[in-house]
Amino acid sequence: MKHIAYFGGTFDPVHSAHLSIARRLTEIFSFDRFCFLPAFHAPHKPDQVPTSALHRYAMLCLATAGDARLFVSSHEIDQREKRYTINTIPELCAQHPDDRIYFIIGADSWADIKTWRQWEDLLLTTDMIVVSRPGVELHTDHVTDEIRERVVDLRGETAFRLPAEPSQTSLYFTDAVRSPVSATQIRADLTDGVLDEPDHLPQEVANYIKKYELYT
Ligand code: ATP
Repeated sequence: MKHIAYFGGTFDPVHSAHLSIARRLTEIFSFDRFCFLPAFHAPHKPDQVPTSALHRYAMLCLATAGDARLFVSSHEIDQREKRYTINTIPELCAQHPDDRIYFIIGADSWADIKTWRQWEDLLLTTDMIVVSRPGVELHTDHVTDEIRERVVDLRGETAFRLPAEPSQTSLYFTDAVRSPVSATQIRADLTDGVLDEPDHLPQEVANYIKKYELYT
């Protein structure tokens, strides 16, 4: 059985915090495969019209091209419509019937989790890893006791052996990455022309943004 991570998000654009999360979590949890899963359109950010899914996908491919452990899944964008995680997870599990799937989110997404479709079902049926984010408190006050009991708090830990045959799913909390970088800030800086060569973007992604005149 392989342990496969899926990291959902808009990745508009992919930045250094996303890549640090992918690399650190792959080390800590010994994932066999780590896949970025760009959304066609983020369902819980209805006001935001993201950059074309193809541009976001291309930037992820450029950012991960040099790392054999990191992959980009076109699963959601291929369907060319809003997708909900509660529907996507069973589809991914069906693609990997002998493996175990882990879904990665940041602390801000965890704070908003009750806005996600069928959030209770999702949290009771999915192995998730929640990554700390500066300025966002990682707590469990907003979820039910049944969900709270699934939390495995790994903050402070630098290695963890995922159980091979767990009887139920878990919600792992980790503070292995503490980066304040945000795509919203990067987009604003690019639009304002504040960042000509942004620090928080891989060079290939910065070049791509310039070439295709994104965020101008
Ligand atoms: P935005 O600023 O537009 O919300 P973002 O930087 O959060 O964008 P997303 O593509 O929305 O980027 O993020 C995908 C996932 O990565 C989300 O679950 C988000 O919580 C997580 N994430 C993004 N940046 C960080 C960070 N600095 N630390 C921890 N998690 C993060």
